Amino acid sequence: MKIAVYPGSFDPITLGHLDIVQRAAAIVDKLIICVMVNAEKAPLFDLTDRMRLVERATAKFDNVVTDTSDLLLAEYARQVDANVIVKGLRAMSDYEKECQMALINKKINPDLDTFFLAASEKYTYLSSSIVKEMARYGVDLAEFVPQEIIADITKKTAHRR
Ligand code: ADP
Repeated sequence: MKIAVYPGSFDPITLGHLDIVQRAAAIVDKLIICVMVNAEKAPLFDLTDRMRLVERATAKFDNVVTDTSDLLLAEYARQVDANVIVKGLRAMSDYEKECQMALINKKINPDLDTFFLAASEKYTYLSSSIVKEMARYGVDLAEFVPQEIIADITKKTAHRR
């Protein structure tokens, strides 16, 4: 069974993330979206909320589950028996960092490979940061995030401008 982990902050999940989820879930047997703690970022949503939003946005996929972890990714992958990490690549700027991470993860856990999926052209500009910025200015989020979570983001950012 091919089990893959798609890690990230997902603060919040965007249509770009969802596109990667859909494409990866069509390739592997089981995809675990792992909402990770990132000590370098002060998130808008706490870990539980981020996971709840991911769960709601991906409820329609039978072979996708959501989890959270504060472990090292390579260690987490070992614990859940995953042999693949899935990453989305938007630009060369993503590539440099992600390639380094892939090599480190392989060193720590030699059974683990990283698959890069090229971001779909229509989402290459999209990031969680852009979504938060737009939300603060009251821009309609329909083109950026799954419909099911728009109200949560609007509510959270209403007083943060
Ligand atoms: P991180 O905080 O680790 O950068 P993110 O939640 O921003 O995590 O992103 C998680 C993963 O999704 C990363 O592999 C990132 O490259 C990918 N990703 C982010 N936005 C997009 C997008 N618009 N299209 C495709 N992949 C994306």
